[in-house]
Amino acid sequence: MPSPGTYLVKEIFGPTLQGEGAHAGRACVFLRLAVCNLACSWCDTDFRPEGASRMSAAEITSRLIEHDRAGSRRVIVTGGEPALQWDAPLAAALRGAGFAIHMESNGTRPLAAPVDWLTVSPKPQFHQGRFSLAPLSPSEVKVVVDDSVSEETLAACEERYAGCAHWFLQPCMDARYDDHLRRTLELIESHPRWRLSLQLHKIVGVP
Ligand code: SF4
Repeated sequence: MPSPGTYLVKEIFGPTLQGEGAHAGRACVFLRLAVCNLACSWCDTDFRPEGASRMSAAEITSRLIEHDRAGSRRVIVTGGEPALQWDAPLAAALRGAGFAIHMESNGTRPLAAPVDWLTVSPKPQFHQGRFSLAPLSPSEVKVVVDDSVSEETLAACEERYAGCAHWFLQPCMDARYDDHLRRTLELIESHPRWRLSLQLHKIVGVP
């Protein structure tokens, strides 16, 4: 049974770089919460509860401060799906330590507490009728381009997240990366609101 006031943490690491989106290249530390409600076929992340640790908000904050040796005070909260565990006490603990909170979500869950930068990366092709997108106002939308992503996908995002200012297409880095990159570039050329996001951390070889 989960202990009240604790979170299932897969890993805490840094200092490193944010690899994706509008803040790519910026120094940060990472908090990866375990468990996801989707099962994307090309997922590159181990979010399984096996090997995860139960930690309090204070313990998480303390570990992040230890890792944030140069004082970036920027934490990327990711998963798995971080909104499954995100709550006001954890947000308050991180804010109290001076962290700007950036979250990457698949957009299926409302946030129990606000964040400073919200990336929604919708993956409706993996909802299997069990999930719908939550009413969120993201800072940026990032679509991972696989074979299922079409012009209609982009139009649906633009309609749903009409107030968003930052739009990214990111080629899926699976075995068919070259095809996905070519498709991504074609989509950007014909839909110039969107811009390219690459997984910079993989290219430069940082975690
Ligand atoms: S939503 Fe993200 S973490 Fe979850 S399965 Fe899909 S790619 Fe992996």
